[in-house]
Amino acid sequence: MKNLVYYLDQPVGSFQAKDEAIGEPGPGEIRLKTSKTSVCQSDVVIYNVGLPRIKSWPAIILHEASCIVDAVGEGVSKFRVGDLVGLGCDIPCGDSSCIYCGPTGTGDWTSCPNTQATGHEFSGFARSHAILPQWFVEYGPIVKFQDGFDANRACQLEPLACGLEGMTRVNNCIENRIVVLLGAGSQSTYALQCAQAMKARKIILVNRGIDRLERVLRDFGDDNVVGVRWDENVVENVLAECKPFNEPHFVMVNAPVAAAYEVAPKLMGYGTVLDGHAGVKGADGKPRLAHEIDLNNDIHYRLQCYQATHGSSMHGIRLAHQMLSENKLPKIDLMTNETEKFHHTEIMAAISRAADKDSLKVIIDWED
Ligand SMILES: [Zn+2]
Ligand SMILES: [Zn+2]
Repeated sequence: MKNLVYYLDQPVGSFQAKDEAIGEPGPGEIRLKTSKTSVCQSDVVIYNVGLPRIKSWPAIILHEASCIVDAVGEGVSKFRVGDLVGLGCDIPCGDSSCIYCGPTGTGDWTSCPNTQATGHEFSGFARSHAILPQWFVEYGPIVKFQDGFDANRACQLEPLACGLEGMTRVNNCIENRIVVLLGAGSQSTYALQCAQAMKARKIILVNRGIDRLERVLRDFGDDNVVGVRWDENVVENVLAECKPFNEPHFVMVNAPVAAAYEVAPKLMGYGTVLDGHAGVKGADGKPRLAHEIDLNNDIHYRLQCYQATHGSSMHGIRLAHQMLSENKLPKIDLMTNETEKFHHTEIMAAISRAADKDSLKVIIDWED
């Protein structure tokens, strides 16, 4: 059988399409036909500067995918030909005795020293077909959607899962609470919709650029959502929006910039949870961003919590699957407008559109 694979030759390079042979899945394996892939900001970073975790080039990128099960190997009972599945990016190491990733492990496979990720160590979905190994089929991250579910939504399982990991690591920090989202890109827009679904009391969306802030407020806003411009008065303006509370309950850093880690601690009050969701890295690697915390007065007496999640385990994947399946994010399709839909033959244009300041979610269609 023919497999169309797009190889990115090098950072800032070009995609070369190649027809390769793909065989039948072995025992416990499944073969997938890619249906849709959405473009992550990490794909844009990989395109522009590469990634230390990608050890060899050319590389097959793209990890946000929904696929149709195309063939199943002997002994597979979880999936059938024709099933629509969504996939996560962080994947187990494949060692069945691993205390993180194995069947009796904790499931925290992002903590495993040998953790792998799709589009990094494991080939991504810039290809028409893929065979998943037995351990991927067995342990995940792969979930099946109900018949007739929209593949455009299913491919957004992964970014949604990552955000939900951050929003649920600490109990009771969203429902009936004041939520501040720093940045108005796709991760904040997913978080906004999740916070609405989780019945946040108020959501304060903070962004520098007015265009994207207006787009998100217009398409996703409601009576409980306000926008605040990120200027020199951002801290006092956000705190004013928290009234009659003195502080927000949850602050999520979704802007991958050092400035966000200067603003976020200034919003910490009584019982505030800070989720450092977006990491900061540049050409020189990952900078040290220091902040002094009083472990007694801030952490103990004021109950502050500084936490982060990156990537997702089955916890986030299951929550995202549930949110999508139960249509808890009814406006999610508005994240992808007509200028954000591409065919796989336009993969380069799709990556560059995802890099635009006003873009939310670019989706690539793999149907013939
Ligand atoms: Zn992603
Ligand atoms: Zn492991």
